Amino acid sequence: MNGHTKFQAERVSRLNPYVPGEQPRDRDYIKLNANENPYPPSPAVLQAVLQTLRDNPMATARYPDPDSLDLKKAIASLLNRTGGVLARAVVAGGAVSPSPGDALGFEVTPEMIFCGNGSDEVLSFVFYAFFDGDRPLITLEHTYSFYPVYGLYYGIPLKAVPLTPRWQVDVSGVAEAAGAADSGVILPNPNAPTGIALSREEVRGLLRRCPPDRAVVIDEAYADFGGESCLGLLPEFPNLVIVRTFSKSLSGAGLRLGYAVASGELCRVLTQVKNSFNHFPLDALTQRAGIAACSDPAWYAANAAKIASERDSLAAFLRDRGWLVLPSSANFLFTQKPGHSGRALYGRLRDQGILVRRFDIPGIEDFLRITVGTAAQMAALKEALG
Ligand code: PMP
Repeated sequence: MNGHTKFQAERVSRLNPYVPGEQPRDRDYIKLNANENPYPPSPAVLQAVLQTLRDNPMATARYPDPDSLDLKKAIASLLNRTGGVLARAVVAGGAVSPSPGDALGFEVTPEMIFCGNGSDEVLSFVFYAFFDGDRPLITLEHTYSFYPVYGLYYGIPLKAVPLTPRWQVDVSGVAEAAGAADSGVILPNPNAPTGIALSREEVRGLLRRCPPDRAVVIDEAYADFGGESCLGLLPEFPNLVIVRTFSKSLSGAGLRLGYAVASGELCRVLTQVKNSFNHFPLDALTQRAGIAACSDPAWYAANAAKIASERDSLAAFLRDRGWLVLPSSANFLFTQKPGHSGRALYGRLRDQGILVRRFDIPGIEDFLRITVGTAAQMAALKEALG
């Protein structure tokens, strides 16, 4: 809800705030509307937070490390051990390694990591740091709805390239738009809310065709669930910025912890922007929790694999019953029952205690975005849909 008073600065009326998935307080819904992880964090996270409070109570009396250095080390090590795709990481005898196709071929170092208060904040710093108002930033037609919000906030015009008729990213269209305006690019991979992923080769092809002096931002919020991470492209493209989050695959939406992976040079620019806004975006306990999460990739890899398998089973269930289901590499499905209104389907599920997400946006108004939950939650959903 937007407020308005005569006291507000003029710039406030230009804003159009983001509306997240509902966080209901009135009833115990099966919550499949915000792409959260249905599993709790690793026991190591709880232990680290409790231990910090017990053994080092001054941790919350003092300011936290503004540069989150230990956390950056832990994130770099996590990425080197998983290759950026937890659902495929190989777990053997407690050790975790990337599946052969995901191995990075170089080492991610802490200097290549920038941390922020959720990837939304990281994206905000990325917009401020790398894009100006003098040319459009290229993005997609149906994509993460926070990008246009930041565009208005920072006065950066956005140009949205339509998806193909099969809901895929039009790689050539994006490259041509970026070339024509000598612009940067931002897109999620897998895309949200469609869930469709580009392969690493397709992103490489895009990067080769984009202006080399403009940043290209790949938002990998959902990459851990089975797409291909573009981390391996970083040495080849100094203009590549990858944004990732603890909110989805690392069961940390409530911690507010996101990060960018890019060259040390670009991370230093992001740090300059952060230190001009909030020196300490990550509190001491979140930093501890994040480090602990990175210490137990086996826990999260098992959960990501379970989610990917529940996703594929739900997709088959829906297709068998005549639903159109876009091929998802994320922890959600974007789906539509031909001949049925999305609003009505949403309402009927809600009446049965199941919350999903839908968007009042022309072209996708009849789709539901359903977050993949536990086996029990998916069984309840299938029963409700039946
Ligand atoms: N990017 C995409 C594509 C998302 O869907 C989300 C989740 N709403 C985010 C970034 C932000 O996630 P968070 O701020 O929780 O890290």
